[in-house]
Amino acid sequence: MQYANSVLDLIGNTPLVRLGRTLDLEGGPDAGPLVLAKVEYLNPGGSVKDRIATRMIEAAEASGELQPGGTIVEPTSGNTGVGLAMVAQQKGYKCIFVCPDKVSVDKRNVLKAYGAEVVVCPTAVAPEHPDSYYNVSDRLASEPGAWKPNQYANQHNPRSHYETTGPEIWEQTEGKITHFVCGMGTGGTISGVGRYLKEQNPDVQVIGADPAGSVYSGGTGRPYLVEGVGEDFWPDTYDRTVADRVIEVSDADSFAFTRRLAREEALLVGGSCGMAAWAARQVAQELAAEGRTDAVVVVLLPDSGRGYLTKIFNDEWLAQYGFASGADADHRTVGEV
Ligand code: PMP
Repeated sequence: MQYANSVLDLIGNTPLVRLGRTLDLEGGPDAGPLVLAKVEYLNPGGSVKDRIATRMIEAAEASGELQPGGTIVEPTSGNTGVGLAMVAQQKGYKCIFVCPDKVSVDKRNVLKAYGAEVVVCPTAVAPEHPDSYYNVSDRLASEPGAWKPNQYANQHNPRSHYETTGPEIWEQTEGKITHFVCGMGTGGTISGVGRYLKEQNPDVQVIGADPAGSVYSGGTGRPYLVEGVGEDFWPDTYDRTVADRVIEVSDADSFAFTRRLAREEALLVGGSCGMAAWAARQVAQELAAEGRTDAVVVVLLPDSGRGYLTKIFNDEWLAQYGFASGADADHRTVGEV
């Protein structure tokens, strides 16, 4: 019989799948480098964040910061929350997530479905107000038995990628990877994977993809719509020495390419995936122009498109921000698809 003892044993070992048509290579996909997507939505919690949740919790158990019967408190409503809620439930910990009231009811319900508690704080109060998101999460985290993973500072975040994602990519490509492309939120993925790959072969090029406006690509932190990536500060989990290059991607290109991945590669993935894959396409086109058809580009796709059906996959939502929904954002307008 083949089975896993728990969903936790199903985290990681995600597959690589070749990208084709969306690369728009002159002469077709075979005329350029091999571009492989690492499909992280196939993790049981639906995102790459399952990896860091496991590693951060196991490390806190080992150090004694998290004791049996303890409570995990984190101000997150996204993929990290799902990963933590899943691991916490299986290991018997309580989980409380603190999120601002602008977070959608669907997202809150996902966390509750796993058995977590969700505390919603008003957005319309100053950070120093006792009910603010920051104060409530700090207060809950300082209660006895509580532990805050803090994904933006916890070094077990990049370490989980150094120990799992990086080695998987190296082995799956039989050491032939030449370029690694990845979005950056906490910077944990690019830092851990990038360091591992460069230790195996210092010539591997590590390329960050970043929303226009974010500090990683020299922005001021001005707002952008793509979720989960880009920052207005430099997190401790980001290793500033690891990226050889950062490619800036607009919201319009990120969303249009996310739609293309669903329509043309049958990959229903999130907006940060469209952003990273757009940057990988850019790299592939440059390599093709240089005649480097032997290059092997791996792009990491962090999550599924299911969480964005009412946004990126909704023509009205896109139109509200002036984005095209078609396969080719430059030439089609919303409604013509
Ligand atoms: N994409 C999505 C959807 C995410 O939730 C995250 C994590 N914030 C990332 C990309 C970026 O990953 P990392 O935090 O490891 O840089």
